[in-house]
Parts: sequence; structure tokens; C-alpha cells
Amino acid sequence: MTWRNILPPPYDLPRDDGAGRSVEDMHDTLGLPFGGAAIALRGVNLSLGGGAARVHILRDINLNIGRGEAVALLGPSGSGKSTLLMVMTGLERADSGSITVADRDLSKLGEDDLARFRGKHIGIVFQAFHLIPTMTALENVAVPLELAGMDDPFGRAERELIAVGLGGRLSHYPAQLSGGEQQRVALARAVAPNPAILVADEPTGNLDEATGSEIVELLFHGYRQHGTTLVLVTHDTALAERCDRVLHIHSGRLDERASPAAKPR
Ligand code: ADP
Ligand code: MG
Repeated sequence: MTWRNILPPPYDLPRDDGAGRSVEDMHDTLGLPFGGAAIALRGVNLSLGGGAARVHILRDINLNIGRGEAVALLGPSGSGKSTLLMVMTGLERADSGSITVADRDLSKLGEDDLARFRGKHIGIVFQAFHLIPTMTALENVAVPLELAGMDDPFGRAERELIAVGLGGRLSHYPAQLSGGEQQRVALARAVAPNPAILVADEPTGNLDEATGSEIVELLFHGYRQHGTTLVLVTHDTALAERCDRVLHIHSGRLDERASPAAKPR
């Protein structure tokens, strides 16, 4: 159990990073100091669907995720995990409540600003990957970097794909890749802009154990190097164990409790 499991939000922060740097010297990739919340949800409710099919998916969600914190989100199928990620990243608007990410109130951003904000600060690995079928693996990773105005998008994309073990698949289209390979392209695309916040929906769900643990290493590499905030939906207990805190969701309600799975890193 770590200090993050024990203390209620806002979390007291460790005094150093274990490598002798004090908390005051630690900044995340937004250039913001550690402390405070990277993501804060207050009284969030969301229903989707119409008429008899209407489902109250998220119920009174209150949640602070600290800067540089790694959080695992666990829950049964259909409990609202993916929907919660969508709301956190502004891909789905809540019916009520507020969502603040990196000190921005998402409800105050229009769709274009929201997309720009996301492109810059939030990396998302979707459960269904959402790769663009008419683009090669390399283009899927490089084009968003190019649109965000980053230097050397293709060189950068190639390095990210090599890092996920896909150096030999650069010019393959998604349909020519296995599920696990598509998942790795989606991961490379999400981490390539070096986002302050990385959100991943079952990032090891389609991978064999060996590939899965390589991906976990990649996720946590950025987390340690740059103080990335990680939010991971997973069924993988090994992955949950690597996180600072484990959140459980049941029928759209967050049940935040100290988890015996979490241990100090
Ligand atoms: P999880 O990721 O935990 O498996 P989801 O967040 O995908 O769960 O879905 C939560 C619940 O909301 C499910 O019961 C699902 O059927 C329902 N749901 C998701 N999207 C919609 C939608 N657009 N319209 C109606 N119901 C939806
Ligand atoms: Mg899901």
C-alpha cells in the first residue's frame, strides 16, 4: 500500500522522486509542477441512448487524479469504464458536473479548442484502436504529429514504432496487421507527442503476455521519465499492481478504496 492509497484527495506528495530531486523541481510535460490534480471530476453524471434504451451510465462521479499519478480503473464489463475515459478526455460531454483537465474546464472549450487541447496534452489508446484504415502504420502515427506542427513527424513516428517492436511493419495498413500489432500502433500514436496525460482502454487486452509486459514497460517508461499522468482501464492485475492507485467502478459508481493490489513503485 502506498501513501496515495491511504490519503484522501488532495494527495500529499512525496518529498522527492527517489532520485534526489525534490518535488519542487519535478514538472510534468505540461511544464506544470507536481501537486494538484491533473484530472478532476465533480458530480459527473451521464446518460446515453433514447427512450426505453436510455441508460444512466455515470453516477455522481467525484475524482481527483494527481499530476504524475498512475491510476488503474477496474470494473466489470458494462460498468462504465470506457465512458468514464471518454468524459475525462472531453470526447463525451457529461449531463451534469464539471471536468477539469490540466486546470482547464472542458465544458468551456468548444469542439475545435477541445480537439486542439487533446492533441497537445492527452494521449488516448482506444479500446477499438481507431486507426485510420487508409493510412499505413507510419502515417497513422506521423500525421497527427504533423497536424500538431511537431518537428520531424515521420522520423519521430518511425522511432515510436520501432520502440513498440513494429519497425518491420511501417508500411502495413491496419487491415494487414494483427489485433496486437494494431494495438501497438495505437499506443505509439498516443505516446508520440509526449502527452502530459495518457489514457488507455485495456492497452494489453489483445496482447500475449510477453508483448503485454513490453507495452507496460513502455507506458511506465514515460510515466517515470516525464511524470506522465496515467489512467489505465485494465483487467490485467499485473498492470494494476504497477499503478499507484486502483479505482473500482460498479454500475457507473466509483468505489474508491485502498486496494491490496497496489504497491509502492
Ligand atoms: P465498460 O467499458 O466498463 O465495459 P462502457 O462504458 O462501454 O462499459 O458502457 C457502460 C454502459 O453504457 C453499458 O451498459 C453500455 O451498454 C452502455 N452504453 C455505452 N454507450 C452507449 C450509448 N451510446 N447509448 C446507450 N448506452 C450506451
Ligand atoms: Mg470498455
